[in-house]
Amino acid sequence: MEALRQIPPVNDVLRAEELAAFRDIVDQPFVTEILDNVLSETRRDLAQSKSPASRAELTSAIAGKVAHRIRESLEPSLRRVINASGVVLHTNLGRAPLPEGAIEHLHLVSAGYSNLEFDVQQGKRGKRDVHIDRILRQLVGCEAAIVVNNNAAAVLLVLNTLGEGGEVIVSRGEQIEIGDSFRIPEIMARSGARLREVGTTNRTRIKDYEKAINDNTRLLLRVHPSNFRMMGFTERPSLEEFVELGKRHNIPTFEDLGSGCVADPRSLGIADEPVAAGSIHAGIDVISFSGDKLLGGPQAGIIAGKKLYVEKIRQNPLFRALRVDKLTISVLEFVLRAYLRGKTEEIPVLRMLQASAADLKNRAESFARRVGGNAKPVELKSVVGGGSAPETYVPSWGVALDFPGFSDAELERRLRNSNPPVIVRLEEGRVVLDFRTIFTTDEDDLLANIRKITG
Ligand SMILES: *Cc1c(COP(=O)(O)O)cnc(C)c1O
Repeated sequence: MEALRQIPPVNDVLRAEELAAFRDIVDQPFVTEILDNVLSETRRDLAQSKSPASRAELTSAIAGKVAHRIRESLEPSLRRVINASGVVLHTNLGRAPLPEGAIEHLHLVSAGYSNLEFDVQQGKRGKRDVHIDRILRQLVGCEAAIVVNNNAAAVLLVLNTLGEGGEVIVSRGEQIEIGDSFRIPEIMARSGARLREVGTTNRTRIKDYEKAINDNTRLLLRVHPSNFRMMGFTERPSLEEFVELGKRHNIPTFEDLGSGCVADPRSLGIADEPVAAGSIHAGIDVISFSGDKLLGGPQAGIIAGKKLYVEKIRQNPLFRALRVDKLTISVLEFVLRAYLRGKTEEIPVLRMLQASAADLKNRAESFARRVGGNAKPVELKSVVGGGSAPETYVPSWGVALDFPGFSDAELERRLRNSNPPVIVRLEEGRVVLDFRTIFTTDEDDLLANIRKITG
């Protein structure tokens, strides 16, 4: 146990050069814990080691290890990454990047106090939904709207309010699972409503719904299949037939739109995505959609429709548990106003989807020149992601990297572990950087990372 005598006193470690930058935090409990851990690890190592280091060396090694762990603890866990995958709505990468203006508005509103639930004109308590309700009425033509945590929460809340204790009719072809374990039958079970399945996997007619209607029927549900498409021998009632059936039997209709496109999807190069205003216009009683899919805003679930039903949904005690905070409202309000002003280019998701192949080609070519001989511009196809338009591929351009001595898997791994991390696409055995999702302001960091890794 001779070696253990070499362990330096704690004060010597704390005074070591390696910890100079952390003098003002060495008393913090997390630092004490790191120090204790490193000291006991060192004791364990020394007990097994035959050749003890000098005390000075040991002090410096311990302090170095402690400094490294302090740095790790203080580094933000949630941080920026460069998305070179070309998937515009990448759920694992935070879905929609937010508009600059929305962040400014968020700062203005949440760094201090706000009128979140205060009616300034009347000088009395107000509702937090008013900030979103009016714009949505103008934007999608609904009578009323409220916002909850996400679209999964919105669906749960609507089913619970309008379906609990009774039956909700839904087509077998719409019993879908959206990535990340959102499954219609499971949400339905949690809502307290009984699922009444009609039709077959590929074909459901309006008559199938009609035959299933009985005294316990509370709601007719229609779900946008989002991330999958059926082809061939398929049938689904039109929106109009669906609405008409509800009206005739005096049963409310609810449509889970998933992405809830508010802009014209054709302007985004997407053909078959339903628009929120279309469903409202057709007469659907209640719709719900995500805030951070094609809308391009923060994570949120928007519930819009007839006042009678939206008001009922708002009265549900679950609404209080699922409501959003001022951060979400401030960002969402900005995004919705951008639509109202017709300034959709301020919304990054829409800007990326609208970027022309020619512009992306120019950017890819000049970036490839900056990298040098190991990069070449390539034509690509990007996907929208986020469960939107699964069959749609948007023509894109990017850069393929080929560095001798690096396998594609190795290059992918190194770029992912660089700072900021770069998430690439592997295509036909090569690493490609899709410029559709790379911000112009990412390019210098991207180049620096490539040089550092391969240089
Ligand atoms: C994405 C999606 C959901 C879940 O929305 P989140 O905002 O991710 O909670 C629900 N229904 C459909 C049809 C979807 O596409």
